[in-house]
Amino acid sequence: MTAVPALEVTGLTVRFAGLTALDAVDFRVAPGTVHAVIGPNGAGKSTCFNVLSGVYRAASGSVRLGDEELTGLPPHRIAALGVARTFQNLALPPTATVADSLLLGRHRLTRTGFVAAGLRLPSALREERRHRERVREIAQFVGLGDALDRPAGSLPYGAQKLAELARALCMEPSLLLLDEPVAGMTADERRRTAAVIAGVRDSLGISIVLVEHDMGVVMRLADTVTVLDFGRRIADGTPAAVQNDPAVVRAYLGE
Ligand code: ADP
Ligand code: MG
Repeated sequence: MTAVPALEVTGLTVRFAGLTALDAVDFRVAPGTVHAVIGPNGAGKSTCFNVLSGVYRAASGSVRLGDEELTGLPPHRIAALGVARTFQNLALPPTATVADSLLLGRHRLTRTGFVAAGLRLPSALREERRHRERVREIAQFVGLGDALDRPAGSLPYGAQKLAELARALCMEPSLLLLDEPVAGMTADERRRTAAVIAGVRDSLGISIVLVEHDMGVVMRLADTVTVLDFGRRIADGTPAAVQNDPAVVRAYLGE
């Protein structure tokens, strides 16, 4: 791999009182690829996301986004550098319309000041129109073009999860962190969501880190996989190689 990786995690270590949740973990994500982080419960997957997005601080190690050092930056700075995430549980305000929820995702891209927006100056109105247009495009991209004016909370569960993905896309990220994007979905919703995620990579060129329990989805979507167990990296490679790795089989059998 000669190009600068989209994301490079080196020696990442996180400790909670007496527990090493991540122990010198390394992995790289090539630009425009899906990298899955998998492992049994308690392996450190969510901790990894929380460090990447700045919620937790690493005890040591580094996280680089392209040429930018993210290590130690607060969440808003990391978001401003182009890292967007979705959460394992639903996080959209249920009563706001899908369109308004997605507009919130464009907050960091808003140039016009609050005063201009409050006075509804032409520049602010133009900017809002531009944002609404982009929100519509992104909603159509994830298949929610018809749901823009509905309260997010009134949509089926799978559509609400897609709306969260759309909100993250509204930040125009270069790196997207997806925490269990198909958890709780029907088989149909899973297929649809997996296709949208593949489209985010293939059509939008966004790099993705995916934490997911559904191995079918991981095997289908991931270009590369890191397997964690008790905070340590126990395997790293293509889905096919990792799946047949004896250490991975042992970890999943809970030996
Ligand atoms: P996973 O997402 O792979 O199931 P987590 O990253 O949530 O695993 O947890 C890894 C380990 O770190 C677990 O033993 C968990 O109990 C512990 N842990 C996670 N977050 C905290 C926290 N905020 N305080 C203390 N321990 C934590
Ligand atoms: Mg977790």
